[in-house]
Amino acid sequence: MAFKLAIIGRPNVGKSTLFNRLAGRRLAIVDDTPGVTRDRRSHPARLQDLRFEVIDTAGLESAAAPTLEGRMRVQTEQAIEEADIALFMIDARVGVMPDDATFANLLRRRGKPVVLVANKMDVNAARSGVLDSWELGLGDPVEISAEHGLGMSDLRDAIVEGL
Ligand code: GDP
Ligand code: MG
Repeated sequence: MAFKLAIIGRPNVGKSTLFNRLAGRRLAIVDDTPGVTRDRRSHPARLQDLRFEVIDTAGLESAAAPTLEGRMRVQTEQAIEEADIALFMIDARVGVMPDDATFANLLRRRGKPVVLVANKMDVNAARSGVLDSWELGLGDPVEISAEHGLGMSDLRDAIVEGL
């Protein structure tokens, strides 16, 4: 199946870490500094039996809009437009932040399939962040650790279901 999947979310939730895992390469720049991914990047990807194109998004550096919210919106809307399905990632370690709600609203308005993903589930404190996520109105999240490769079968199934 040929499709495009865009990884959406505020800075530092782990988008580039998942991008690298799916792309099978250390392509995107991962850093502790929020917003370190410099460009929107697209790469052939693989998740078990699925073959697709994965799109990573940055959050902060794009000069296309003057405010943080505006920059996130521009990035997100470009990626969503290009994609067949959006993977919306939250950081379960810190729970749902106001910017997450902004993304959720954007995504809902676009009407494309969305897979909600709670990342960093390798951290003990992440359980409460998952419980928080009901308020996004996007259903139960797929629980993963992008860094450790946990939850990849559930992610695969959720993508197939969403397409
Ligand atoms: P992005 O800004 O959304 O692209 O986030 P990055 O992929 O750059 O990751 C931000 C930080 O979160 C980095 O320090 C990563 O090592 C860390 N991180 C990403 N995924 C995980 C995970 O599954 N578990 C944990 N504990 N940390 C993670
Ligand atoms: Mg990044």
